[in-house]
Amino acid sequence: MVDLALCQGHSVCLGEAPEVFEVIEEDNGYPQVRILLQNPPEALRAKVMKAVKYCPNHVITVLED
Ligand code: SF4
Repeated sequence: MVDLALCQGHSVCLGEAPEVFEVIEEDNGYPQVRILLQNPPEALRAKVMKAVKYCPNHVITVLED
């Protein structure tokens, strides 16, 4: 999950895991992340964890099943 209130659209997550995240321009003029895969496959775990690590605002949380 992503705490959208704190996402500032830096797009670091997109750079790390483009299969899982996209960053779009919102109506308010600010870019924000949108999650493409809520349950990404295990093969993408390393990329997702990099996005978690490098998100400048630390707003991405991985919830395990
Ligand atoms: S890196 Fe973090 S702050 Fe930047 S768009 Fe992704 S979730 Fe939002």
